[in-house]
Amino acid sequence: MQNRNGTSRRDVLRTGATIAAGIVGVAAASSARAEDEKIAQELVQYQNSPKDGQQCNMCAQWVEPNACKIVAGVIHPNGYCVAYAPKEG
Ligand code: SF4
Repeated sequence: MQNRNGTSRRDVLRTGATIAAGIVGVAAASSARAEDEKIAQELVQYQNSPKDGQQCNMCAQWVEPNACKIVAGVIHPNGYCVAYAPKEG
């Protein structure tokens, strides 16, 4: 069935689904690009254990539940790297 504009409900739904898929694709690409711009764990000597009482979930770069603003990949809350910077406050 078509409306006065010659557009069917199916056309509208198909267009909406295409737009939604495009938005998801752009968001995924953006997220992947952001991850690519982070520092490799090896370069900051990342380890999965604390050092001298310093650990990722006490760092200003920490992102719950398992990421870092500047270091790539999965980051353990009890991990540590040489870029450690204590949270203020
Ligand atoms: S210690 Fe390193 S890996 Fe951990 S949150 Fe801070 S900057 Fe990121």
